[in-house]
Amino acid sequence: MSIIHQIYQNMYRATVPDEPVCSICQGPIELNRQLIHPCLCQSCADAMQKVKKVYKIHGIYWYVLYAYNDFLERLWFQLKEQKDIVLASIFLAEEDVDLRSYCLCAMPSSEQKRMVRGFEPIIEVFKSTGMEIYSPFYKTSDLKQSNQPKSKRQDIQDVLELKTCYWMPDKPILLVDDVCTTGATLSKACTLLSTSKVFIISAHPLWMASQEPNEVANAPWIW
Ligand SMILES: [Zn+2]
Repeated sequence: MSIIHQIYQNMYRATVPDEPVCSICQGPIELNRQLIHPCLCQSCADAMQKVKKVYKIHGIYWYVLYAYNDFLERLWFQLKEQKDIVLASIFLAEEDVDLRSYCLCAMPSSEQKRMVRGFEPIIEVFKSTGMEIYSPFYKTSDLKQSNQPKSKRQDIQDVLELKTCYWMPDKPILLVDDVCTTGATLSKACTLLSTSKVFIISAHPLWMASQEPNEVANAPWIW
């Protein structure tokens, strides 16, 4: 191949847009999905198991976007512990999110986790909404709920505290969390701060099963 030919070929390649690839598996995205959002392939979108369930717990609406399954567990691990922050944008990527009427308050990681990671995963997830995310809480201990015996889980509630003199806009509070395992910390947060709604990216199937009596069928989605 002549040098001129090679130059022309490279110039042509540079003008052809790259095929969109899946943000999770890097595989090609099917044409029909490209029309929705060029972000996830069909099999990754299916594996993420979107449930969009709504519960009414003690008068407060709780919204759950995904079921926490093995696939989600690996995704959160990759995002949080392997610091693959690019993954944060995929959770809300195929949702038309408009939360401007709320004050978004993120549930906190422990100080220790935040120091190690250098970022708050839930804040990264909601960055795509363009909203300011507030952090009115802090944790006083690094006890991981799921590692605790059931009898001790109630004690975990005591480690969540409200910051003093923390400014937030005067809007209804929307609590946001990445993973709901027992709901204990979120329930505690609802008692500390006058909460309008709770939004959970992924909830454990056992928790969802336990809340079945509180599920609101055909409830309008949060956005
Ligand atoms: Zn994929």
